[in-house]
Amino acid sequence: MQKNYYQPEIETMELSKLQALQSEKLVKQVKHVYENVPYYRDMMDKKGVKPEDIHGIEDLHKLPLISKTDLRETYPYGMLAVPLEDCVRIQSTSGTTGKRVIAYYTQNDVELWEECCARAIVAVGGTKKDVCQVAYGYGLFTGGPGLNGGSHKVGCLTLPMSSGNTERQIQFITDLKATILCCTPSYAAYIGEVMKEQGIKPEENSLKAGIFGAEPWTEEMRRDIEKTLGIKAYDIYGLTETSGPGVAFECEAQTGMHINEDHFIAEIIDPDTEEVLPLGSVGELVFTSIDKEAFPLLRYRTRDICKLTREACPCGRTHVKMCKPMGRSDDMMIIRGVNVFPSQIETVLINGGYAPNYQILVDRANNTDTLDINVELSPEQEKDTTKTVAQREKALETAMRAMLGIGPKVHLVAPKSIARSEGKAVRVIDKRKLH
Ligand code: ADP
Ligand code: ZN
Repeated sequence: MQKNYYQPEIETMELSKLQALQSEKLVKQVKHVYENVPYYRDMMDKKGVKPEDIHGIEDLHKLPLISKTDLRETYPYGMLAVPLEDCVRIQSTSGTTGKRVIAYYTQNDVELWEECCARAIVAVGGTKKDVCQVAYGYGLFTGGPGLNGGSHKVGCLTLPMSSGNTERQIQFITDLKATILCCTPSYAAYIGEVMKEQGIKPEENSLKAGIFGAEPWTEEMRRDIEKTLGIKAYDIYGLTETSGPGVAFECEAQTGMHINEDHFIAEIIDPDTEEVLPLGSVGELVFTSIDKEAFPLLRYRTRDICKLTREACPCGRTHVKMCKPMGRSDDMMIIRGVNVFPSQIETVLINGGYAPNYQILVDRANNTDTLDINVELSPEQEKDTTKTVAQREKALETAMRAMLGIGPKVHLVAPKSIARSEGKAVRVIDKRKLH
């Protein structure tokens, strides 16, 4: 296996050394936060923990957990740990689940974040010879600026496209021979679809790799994108609260994302009891930023449901790996008492040969939850007879029942009738919340 690292000494650091480094940084960071963020100091005081009680990572669990609600309560400056004049940038969450959260960066914070993105680009084989097309949104959203900075650090020719204007994206891929595409997986799928319509074959485009993240996507969707674009598709994870994309990234093994543990300590907790769970358990991912200066969150609850593993990785990196997040705890729908994740529905659809263009509608009729799934027919299937379409719907309903444990109603709809996403896709409309 080819070995590519951006910062080899850190990325392959022996575990005991890495953990000693984390401990040293954590002790300093707790002091920094205690002295400069009154809101968190109060939380620590209430819990009866002082900075002197934290000697290393083994004491991390003693610190209070912090959540998005805390960030909303302290909006806009409450979590700032340095004078505002030392900050050079803000970014903000996408607001997928409510009011936006603002994060602040010093110049060092920006450097650190961009380095993380550079590691991700090098891990997929990126070098200064590459042409990196960044089709994540630019602006407050962290996707564009993060990958843009990482691409500069690697020395790639950077195409700061932002999202949207798909025809132009394809024109630039073609004319400037882009080799690495960075965007959300749903947008990558859409770019692939339009390329196909334009008659560009997967092997004809110059792309070799994609760095796709910012939203959940399944292994099935990965295979689908790899086929339509003729590339290797890699996952990248991050959140504004900890910096942005690049908190974790996939290496050539494509079996989970290495968390940049020299900057972020990861824990998995039981979301109900808040107890720390052993490695390998499924639970809520919690991050502690040990290097961030302006917005250093300790034990931040991401609400992403995930699993960590320390199995040796063939790429040689020693940093812990996280699996694809199985969805956010608040993405999970409880339908007729059963837990349903959109990712399960996506798996069934792609395995059944459908493109990842679907919409999930949840409602309530006669005191019972209803689940309807709209799925697009492919242009070829559009010519099917009504009877064949009905059979297809039945087959999908049976496969869905087996996967979910409850039976949805599947509606096959005309090609292109479901809106395409250029950023984070909105898959679920839960009308129960609107009544
Ligand atoms: P918002 O929470 O408003 O969407 P962000 O833009 O900061 O704000 O998005 C961060 C969230 O996006 C993460 O907490 C996670 O739920 C999701 N996310 C980011 N990358 C991935 C990924 N590779 N796979 C699944 N979900 C992801
Ligand atoms: Zn690896």
